[in-house]
Amino acid sequence: MIAWWLRHDRRLSDNACWEFALKEAAKTGEELRVFFAWNRLHLDTGIGGIPRMSARRIEWTQKDLQTMRTELKKHGIALEETEGSALDWLRTNRPSALTYSFAVAHEERQDEAQLRPLVARIHGFWTHSILEPEAIPGGLSRLPEVFTPFRHKVERENLRFELPPLQVEPLPESPASTSQAFPFEPGEASALARLGAYLNNPEGAAAYKTRRNGLLGTEYSTKFSPWLASGALSPRRIWQACLNLEDSLGGSPEVEWIRVELLWREYFQWVAYRAGSRLFHKKGFREQAPRAGFNARAFQRWVEGQTGDDFVNAGMRELAETGYSSNRARQNLASYLIHDLGIDWRYGAAYFESQLLDYDPASNWANWAYLAGVGNDPRPVRRFNTVKQAQDYDANRAFRQAWLP
Ligand code: FAD
Repeated sequence: MIAWWLRHDRRLSDNACWEFALKEAAKTGEELRVFFAWNRLHLDTGIGGIPRMSARRIEWTQKDLQTMRTELKKHGIALEETEGSALDWLRTNRPSALTYSFAVAHEERQDEAQLRPLVARIHGFWTHSILEPEAIPGGLSRLPEVFTPFRHKVERENLRFELPPLQVEPLPESPASTSQAFPFEPGEASALARLGAYLNNPEGAAAYKTRRNGLLGTEYSTKFSPWLASGALSPRRIWQACLNLEDSLGGSPEVEWIRVELLWREYFQWVAYRAGSRLFHKKGFREQAPRAGFNARAFQRWVEGQTGDDFVNAGMRELAETGYSSNRARQNLASYLIHDLGIDWRYGAAYFESQLLDYDPASNWANWAYLAGVGNDPRPVRRFNTVKQAQDYDANRAFRQAWLP
């Protein structure tokens, strides 16, 4: 039997695991089985007893798996789910060959290492990143300490990807209010529909660089992140779709900036890969841990959006009510916890992990470490003046009015 361990690669297009599994099953005549392992994360808690997954994130993942179930059924395959680990599933089912997507974060890589002795033929693929380790300019061991040289090195490679064109259905009309930033559904079909709609909207991709610091509505930024996190959307596909649009516009710094942001994601993937467990340590990549502690009441007020800062409160309530937060808001929410409340950054990262529909270990923990001054940042302190930020980005108070009673 051939098995595909479904992880953060929940799509059928541009997915080397799926292509491999299909080919291998056709070649050998063996049965193909696909499974997803919850690894008990939906029952687990992290630092401070914070649940690893909020009820909303669990529901989002269940719905996402439902879309995969429907797609796989068209190929005569029943998606299997286990509460436990991939290791448990493999011990019980003993496939002759296994395929899966490689992960970059520490825990996920430990899972991979454990199952290697169990299966004779294992074929892993890099489906979650634009590059593979061998393709990182200069090599993974010489990954730049800061983002900009990484960006320039990758840009000099002029990466392009040949991907088959797609049949995309338009998105169903959303009943959500205009303040809702992420009124979308999980799954590959929704992801591709959003990609097409955002790139074709003159107020969307063609105005991205200008609008990306917005706070309200669907069009100020791409909203690709939750689908990137689940793997419903391939980063290579977005990259190439942006290039195609740039070509058709005769070049566009607005659209090009989406690719710059994707390179931030890419950079943090490889930072996480290289850092291993250090990414989750209080001192991050530094010699000394910051002098931050934990104040349960202040933390709870931050979680509930009951601090003395209305811009932060609005952002925290949006996060709790929707599972999404803009990049501008996230930076302020994190900075406030770390630098104004003086709380250990890992509690904030754990809370975001629980809440964010787009939770990605590398993006989340590396961004938090960066803001806490223990990550990849040439500046020792990255503190945001949240009052000034509110004046600059929410001058008419529309964001605060949308989320505060
Ligand atoms: P857009 O502005 O449209 O950007 C396009 C894509 O570029 C995003 O989908 C994302 O994949 C990537 N990107 C943009 N900014 C960043 C960044 N700073 N770091 C990494 N990738 C980036 N992003 C996650 O996907 N998952 C997380 O768990 C996560 N946690 C974060 C925690 C903190 C404290 C901060 C400050 C940022 C975090 N981000 C995370 C990055 C960023 O805020 C989100 O990717 C972005 O807001 C998602 O909305 P979008 O898709 O509309 O982004």
